[in-house]
Amino acid sequence: MYSDNSLRAELNAKGYRQTPQRQLIFQIFQNLPAGNHLSAEKLYLLLLKRGEGMSLSTVYRTLKIMTQMGILREVELAQAHKHHELNTTSSSHHHHIVCVQCHQAIEFMNNSIIEQGLRQVHKVGLQLIDCQLTLHVICPEAMHKGWPQSVPIHWVCSRFLKANQGDDSLPLQLY
Ligand SMILES: [Zn+2]
Ligand SMILES: [Zn+2]
Repeated sequence: MYSDNSLRAELNAKGYRQTPQRQLIFQIFQNLPAGNHLSAEKLYLLLLKRGEGMSLSTVYRTLKIMTQMGILREVELAQAHKHHELNTTSSSHHHHIVCVQCHQAIEFMNNSIIEQGLRQVHKVGLQLIDCQLTLHVICPEAMHKGWPQSVPIHWVCSRFLKANQGDDSLPLQLY
């Protein structure tokens, strides 16, 4: 995990400056409760609420730079809609089970996946930045309601609600 100093060192090493904006965005991700993911739009609103005047395009650009550097990772929860979280080190490296109805995610850990990934990239002499496995699922509850035709677009499966319970900053509607 990065401290403010090591984040600055990492940015500088790649030719980027450590700006207060990048530092603040990093802190927001660091304080995000486990299982939460932020879209650029949601992050933009969070920054606005804190009185940080940052344009949406600056937010997009910062997310892109930090993702390319492997500080953040992109998570595909809904089609054509990216979310981000910290790209954590091996101890808390996780993958996602994503519901195709409500686009909520459940995180799971499985070390054999990243070990396999490391073996594959080392074999060809490359360095691993991130390793993601995303399982797209639908629950029996939604099937029972006649998914996909007769389930309202913003209906959230109770199983995913339960998995993310106690987390009031959860962005329920991702669109
Ligand atoms: Zn995650
Ligand atoms: Zn669902």
